[in-house]
Amino acid sequence: MTEPTRRQLEDWDRNIVWHPFTQMAEYEPLIVDRADGCTVVDLDGREYLDGVSSLWCNVHGHRHPRLDQAIRDQLDRVAHVTALGASNPTTIKLAKRLVDLTPPGLNHVFFSDDGATAVEVAVKMALQYWRQRPDPRPEKTCYVALANAYHGDTLGSVSVGGVARFHAMFEPLLFETLRAPSPDTYRLPANVTPEEALGYYLNAVEQILSEHHARIAAMVVEPLVQAAAGMIVHPGGYLAGIRELTRRYDVLLIADEVAVGMGRTGRMFACEHEEVTPDLLCLAKGLTGGYLPMAATLTGDEIWRAFLGGYAESKTFFHGHTYGGNPLSAAAALATLDVFDEEATLANLGPKIARLGEHLQRMASLPQVGDVRQCGLIGAVELVRDRAAKTPYPWEEKRGMRVCDHARAKGVLLRPLGNVLVIMPPLAVSLEELDRICEAVADGIRAATRENLTHTDTPDA
Ligand SMILES: *Cc1c(COP(=O)(O)O)cnc(C)c1O
Repeated sequence: MTEPTRRQLEDWDRNIVWHPFTQMAEYEPLIVDRADGCTVVDLDGREYLDGVSSLWCNVHGHRHPRLDQAIRDQLDRVAHVTALGASNPTTIKLAKRLVDLTPPGLNHVFFSDDGATAVEVAVKMALQYWRQRPDPRPEKTCYVALANAYHGDTLGSVSVGGVARFHAMFEPLLFETLRAPSPDTYRLPANVTPEEALGYYLNAVEQILSEHHARIAAMVVEPLVQAAAGMIVHPGGYLAGIRELTRRYDVLLIADEVAVGMGRTGRMFACEHEEVTPDLLCLAKGLTGGYLPMAATLTGDEIWRAFLGGYAESKTFFHGHTYGGNPLSAAAALATLDVFDEEATLANLGPKIARLGEHLQRMASLPQVGDVRQCGLIGAVELVRDRAAKTPYPWEEKRGMRVCDHARAKGVLLRPLGNVLVIMPPLAVSLEELDRICEAVADGIRAATRENLTHTDTPDA
């Protein structure tokens, strides 16, 4: 096959490749040819700073020599070994490293390949655990999750998900999930003050648990920040509060750290901020530094033991994916953890988190900015049509996307969540790169909101 022309590539990319979460009738190809550090380069040689970490997964930058070499070394041994009844040293070493690193008590690791499957696994394990434990509770078959939750796109993870625009259509295929309010401190109910927010939201969870605990298998949450919901930062103490409540009402706690894990919040795992050990912990995205698909669902001894027995007892966890625990991915993950140590990634994050905070504070004074939010190296800027009333722009107007188009013209790649601009560069970002990303966002907001005012927001129209 002769090399396709650039025109052919674009044509095939528009008409053959079906991109996720992308309206293909309007898709304009962005074809990345190569990358280095926090910079990605398109087919024309145009450089962009990666302000979204390849959709929240890149950690130490692209083409990190340490990660590249680890994968090459593994390639010289073996590229794939099934995890069904077999193993390989690299994946075993990774499992042990994860057990040592994660909150105490999480002693067992089930590998799969994506964030959605990590959650799917946790949800199924929870149900099977209640059926198989010494004092079985087979009536525990329903789940609690937060409004606007996003846990991935397989049907189990969509069932616990709560983003109406993505999930409502699939309603007939989903299992029952009870919905607690998203602990959002920007859009609080009218009668609740910021000081009362924590108590209010925990009370809402307690009401659900006290009424329905007998049939609830688990509660699923994204610790500290609901990412895809628009980077909703929870009030401090919420995670520890629901840990306490789930324990009291005999409900398992599933922590989905697919987005917030791997250093993103300033600690290796978000649960560390509130000294919480969940019953099941889900990791993916940054686990391999953003190189290869891999996910992990960790759990403790009690759940593990409920699955042990003679073969004929059928207590086996009958779930698996062909590439789960893939050694190339495991090599990338081990190297990712090594780089955290060698480059003191977490210790070096402080000044970057502070600088991001300064930029966000400046953006907070722009007229169409309703709220700015931050947790570690996650920054979010929410655009509103009306600041006082906190009225969102209608999603069809793609305001966030317009800001990102301006930023792209300035050489910064971003992807918004509706009206929320997300600043989430690799943890390896330099202060100078972070400045350029944030300035492109601020300039983009000024330009895109000016545009908007001329043709849709004319006050006397
Ligand atoms: C991205 C994400 C997922 C899904 O992960 P995939 O690897 O895309 O399947 C699940 N949970 C959270 C919190 C996420 O941000």
